[in-house]
Amino acid sequence: MAVSKGLVVVLSGFSGAGKGTIMKHLLNKYPGRYHLSISATTREKRQGEEEGREYFFKTREEFDRMVRDDEFLEHATFNGNSYGTPKAYVKQLVDQGKDVILEIEVNGALQVKKIFPDALLLFVTPPSAKELKNRLVGRGTETDQVVAQRLSISSKESLLMPSYDYLVVNDRIEDSVERVHQIIESAHYATKYNGERIAELQEELKAFSKGDNK
Ligand code: 5GP
Repeated sequence: MAVSKGLVVVLSGFSGAGKGTIMKHLLNKYPGRYHLSISATTREKRQGEEEGREYFFKTREEFDRMVRDDEFLEHATFNGNSYGTPKAYVKQLVDQGKDVILEIEVNGALQVKKIFPDALLLFVTPPSAKELKNRLVGRGTETDQVVAQRLSISSKESLLMPSYDYLVVNDRIEDSVERVHQIIESAHYATKYNGERIAELQEELKAFSKGDNK
C-alpha cells in the first residue's frame, strides 16, 4: 500500500489559552510521534528561551532576506514582530510521512490552508472569555495595558475561528492533550487523507474483477 503523506497540523489559539503547554505535554507524552516546526522571528528572545528550540531569532534584515528568498511557507506580523515558518523542514517531514505541528497565529494559519488545503486546523480556547481574562491577569507578569491589548487581539482572532476544523476547549490540560492527539489520529483515517490508498484499492479490485490478477 502507498505510504501516506504526513499531516500538516496547525495549532492556533488566544494568548493565554495554553497552546504552548498543550504542545509541550503532547511532545512528552508521545515521543517521536510528532514533529514541531520551529519558526523564525524578529522578536526579542525571552528569558529561558534558546536559539533553535523555541525560535530561530533573526534580525529584521535576516528575516526580510528569508522572505525575499521565498524561504517561508507563511509569515505574519503579530504584536509588531514578524514570525515565519521555514518551508524546507515542513515539506521534508511531510514527504517522509511524518506529522508536523505548526504553532502559529491565525493569519499564518489561513496562508497554510491555502498552500496545504488538507492541513488540519485546530483552535485552542479557554472555556470562556472570562476565564481567558483571568488567566492573563493571573500570570501576574503583565500590566493592565498589556492584558487589554491581548484581549483586543483575541477578539479580532475570534472572528477567524470558523475557518478552523476543530475547537479544543482547554479546561484540563491532560484532557486537551489527549483530545488533540485523538483528533490527529482520527484524521489519518479520513477518506480525504487516503486518496492514494483508495485509488490503489480501486485499481487492484478492477484488475481482480477483470480476472487478470488471480
Ligand atoms: P510569542 O511571541 O508569544 O512566542 O508568539 C506570538 C504569536 O505568534 C503566537 O500566537 C504564536 O503562535 C505565533 N507564531 C509563532 N510562530 C509563528 C509563525 O511562524 N508564523 C505565524 N504566523 N505565527 C507564529
